[in-house]
Amino acid sequence: MQNPWIKDFPILSADENGTRLVYLDSAATTQHPTQVLDAVTRYYTHDNANPHRGVYDLAMRATDAHEGARHRVAQFFHAEDDEIVFTQNTTESLNLVAYSYGLHFLHAGDEIVISVAEHHSDLVPWQRVAEATGAALVYLYPGPDGRLTTDELDRKITAKTKLVAIGMVSNVLGLRAPVEEIVARAHAVGAVVVLDCAQSAPHMPVDVKALDVDFAACSAHKLYAPMGMGALYARRELLDKMPPFLSGGDMIGAVHEHSATWAEGPRKFEAGTRNVGGEVGFAAALDYIDHIGWQTMMDHEHALLERMLKGMADMPWLTVYGDPTAAKRFGVVSFNVQDVHPHDVATILDAGGVAIRAGHHCAQPLMDFLGIGSCCRASVAIYNTPEDIDALLNNLENVRKVMG
Ligand code: PLP
Repeated sequence: MQNPWIKDFPILSADENGTRLVYLDSAATTQHPTQVLDAVTRYYTHDNANPHRGVYDLAMRATDAHEGARHRVAQFFHAEDDEIVFTQNTTESLNLVAYSYGLHFLHAGDEIVISVAEHHSDLVPWQRVAEATGAALVYLYPGPDGRLTTDELDRKITAKTKLVAIGMVSNVLGLRAPVEEIVARAHAVGAVVVLDCAQSAPHMPVDVKALDVDFAACSAHKLYAPMGMGALYARRELLDKMPPFLSGGDMIGAVHEHSATWAEGPRKFEAGTRNVGGEVGFAAALDYIDHIGWQTMMDHEHALLERMLKGMADMPWLTVYGDPTAAKRFGVVSFNVQDVHPHDVATILDAGGVAIRAGHHCAQPLMDFLGIGSCCRASVAIYNTPEDIDALLNNLENVRKVMG
């Protein structure tokens, strides 16, 4: 089948020999369509100035680009414009919540509930909050299929819980967390819910109001947009009561020799000059996704995962982690080849023109829980084709032959 979107991605075009990179590492970062690259170039060619600083026409255009991008991201999350803070990435978004909310509103005796499958970005900041406040870190452990059970949620989310931080889709298992059940239990005991959407936002609509989460974080670079851009959704009343994270220019109301007041809303958390080019690229990427349509994207990616998992099911020497039902998975498949180190698998695949990730995937507690040091991960995006999946599967057979 001809993939109608691949032509939008210059980095994936075929070389003079007709060879094209099989890029199966989009969970690490996606490639960029020309629509995004052009939007960024257009911004720097026509509209670049420091937003919120000047009153001349060019600076006003830069401010419009900055606030217009915020509106676009708010639409994406079904949030209000003044509930979206621009950050560098998911990591900064989660640290913002940890420092400005966690350090100020959690205390000794409180419990922070996270899953053992969290990416280090949604784990280490909570370790630090626990250490600084005396709150305890409580882990949710999945069942053998990688899923969190209602029993586990009932056991761990209790009257002591004050914050639950959860990845909506695990970057290793590719399974969607039971967010609705978590939110219901957390809110029933007065706890806030922080949703790490780094791996869900690229693969499904995320409606923060329908999910009723209190915070949600994502990275633009996993969504076909430039690196160095991210967003945090936060309920406005929480933003209002949280102190600033970083301080300096643009986040103030007024500054006196020995005191300062803060700007209102998201600007309180946006210290210093913003990455407006990145924001414009972020908005263009969201337009690109909308243009394709979620259902089309999801159907396309699920068909690719189905093909991959079906092929892997015929490889008895290969272990897939998490429920191998394609319909339940989003974006990623993690696996190991028996008796072959994941780095060797990835190196042999690279020689065959297939790029996958191998390592601990910034999820070392999950690796420990699974009883493995590391694993391989193949991840898909809109530009992948069934031929990409076949190339992966054929090269995996080759790994087996070479290392056999
Ligand atoms: N959370 C999850 C689930 C991720 O997969 C990642 C990145 O892979 C992150 C957080 C951190 O994202 P970033 O490095 O863009 O901050």
